[in-house]
Amino acid sequence: MTHGFDLGDRLRERERQDLRRHLDVTERVARRTRFADDPKSGAADFGEEMVVFAANNYLGLADDGRVQRAAEQGARTVGTGAGASRLVTGDTRLHRALERDLADCKGTERALVFSSGYAANVGTIDALAPDAVFSDELNHASIIDGCRVGAAETVVYDHCEADDLRAKMAERASTAGDGEQWLVVTDSVFSMDGDVAPLAALCDAAEEYGAWLMVDEAHATGLFGNGGGVVQREGLSDRVDIQLGTLSKALASQGGYVAGDEELVEYLLNAARSFVFSTGLAPPAAGAAREALRIARETDQTDRLWETVETLREGLEAMGYEVLGETHILPVLVGDRVDALELDERLRDHGVVAPAIRPPTVPEGTSRIRVAPMATHTDADLTQCLDAFEAAGKEVGVL
Ligand code: PMP
Repeated sequence: MTHGFDLGDRLRERERQDLRRHLDVTERVARRTRFADDPKSGAADFGEEMVVFAANNYLGLADDGRVQRAAEQGARTVGTGAGASRLVTGDTRLHRALERDLADCKGTERALVFSSGYAANVGTIDALAPDAVFSDELNHASIIDGCRVGAAETVVYDHCEADDLRAKMAERASTAGDGEQWLVVTDSVFSMDGDVAPLAALCDAAEEYGAWLMVDEAHATGLFGNGGGVVQREGLSDRVDIQLGTLSKALASQGGYVAGDEELVEYLLNAARSFVFSTGLAPPAAGAAREALRIARETDQTDRLWETVETLREGLEAMGYEVLGETHILPVLVGDRVDALELDERLRDHGVVAPAIRPPTVPEGTSRIRVAPMATHTDADLTQCLDAFEAAGKEVGVL
């Protein structure tokens, strides 16, 4: 008799289903728009320089000296680690300052930082312990996991469809008890489709039933609404109960946050297990995020990002590609998963790194190349990208 685990068998099963993933060293990708190392092995003699459109470091701030110095300053003045949970001895003035900056930028009374956006989502949904969560079908995995950890019943509504949300709330209202507590949750910018949730319509629907609305601004923070995200851009901070996001994308750092009113933050710092039982955010990450937020709000870094986005979208569409979405994330629709993988390979041959995204991450028949421009891409980088798409598309036969 054996009571152990056969992980080899589980891995082989994943292999059979084409679901086995591998880690590859791509250490420059997060920071740089160009690098000459082999993206797989890290070897420095790769030869051709690659242009990278594959990081969420949208403003290029992970490679910015001011942000790097702020990280160093955090390490020097406070330490490389927080040393304990914020509730024990890990709370510092740097954490408080970052939270004040975030609350200011989000138009809320307060904010609370977590060790990641993932931890913020899971901890918040679990702590609220709603009776039901109404969740967009394309919400991020950390929202889905938050629903799983809690005892809430999850009702999935059609992607970005406020009418479907309303219908599903009406259906539940017809059988549910009056005292049920409901949470509606959506990403603001969807990471694989580059589209934007209809936030005002979702506010209307949630308010009709007195439900709370939580918006994950992971891909929007630092970019829209003078850094505050789509909620700020659309003037909805008084109607959205919980604004949440990550410090790891445009803000070029690590960590997550929740912004809302005083009572929400006081409750979460007592009840969100991923906050209570986890070491406080590392001070270098807090310092870097503060400086990146300042730059995102006070300089024209974002204007340059929108220029790069427009140039690529127009150029790709002029060639005949279908580009999804309406934001800085440019999903170039290919359809077939094999074609998408081949296009990814051919693009590399032409010196461009832009990854294929395929099932199960996206539905069958909608495989795509996800192009993520950065504010630090030069005009020459953009030209190289467009030339590569033209040549590679013809080679693969998708153009
Ligand atoms: N929410 C969304 C929408 C995301 O895309 C991500 C990161 N991929 C997260 C949350 C998690 O953030 P973090 O990387 O800080 O854990």
